[in-house]
Amino acid sequence: MTKPLFDLAPPLSLPIINHDASFPVGRIFCVGRNYAAHAAEMGNEVDRQAPFYFTISPSHASLGGNIPFPRGTDDCHFEVEVTVALASGGKDIAATDAMGHIYGYGVGLDMTRRDLQAAAKDKRRPWCIAKDYENSALLSPITTKDAFGALAAQRIWLTKNDEIVQDSTIDLMVHKVPELIAHLSRFYELRAGDIIMTGTPEGVGPIARGDRLIGQVTGADTIDVTFI
Ligand code: MN
Repeated sequence: MTKPLFDLAPPLSLPIINHDASFPVGRIFCVGRNYAAHAAEMGNEVDRQAPFYFTISPSHASLGGNIPFPRGTDDCHFEVEVTVALASGGKDIAATDAMGHIYGYGVGLDMTRRDLQAAAKDKRRPWCIAKDYENSALLSPITTKDAFGALAAQRIWLTKNDEIVQDSTIDLMVHKVPELIAHLSRFYELRAGDIIMTGTPEGVGPIARGDRLIGQVTGADTIDVTFI
């Protein structure tokens, strides 16, 4: 067995509220256009037939705190989202079985280089450079699903420098969490450690150097980040 030339950074592991163990982040699947009012503000239609996805590399996730201001963009937007952490997975999971695979929930920010995303859309290019870069997924600690309670109409909101900029309820997701798990599992073999970022409600907007964002979902922990 040959030795690796160097060691890679270990995967991010999210604290779990009221538990000693942490939750190692495997893959990060992100849902696009999952709230109608956000799709509308971007000039898009929601596809009610099926969700669509992009991914963020787990090494591009972090817990927030002080984060370097994103490079290579003049228009970096916040998107506050419910995160779903899977304790198990599989292929072709039935929507009726999906909730059994969930470990817990959190709140995350899908930080988007909107100018690069718009250029990619115009040129029919992939979104990776707009969505998947260092610190583009900012993830809160995980609250177990029992502690969180049933998914209902919990409030989801984001403040920028103490002003509310996004404010909605999670029942407005077009494709609900069990449906997302079932649909994703037709294309990926889901597994423990997978995180699903479930899409953002309306009110997305740009950050400036020094801005502080605090994202919250009722019943979950908080994501708190300052761009320095
Ligand atoms: Mn998003």
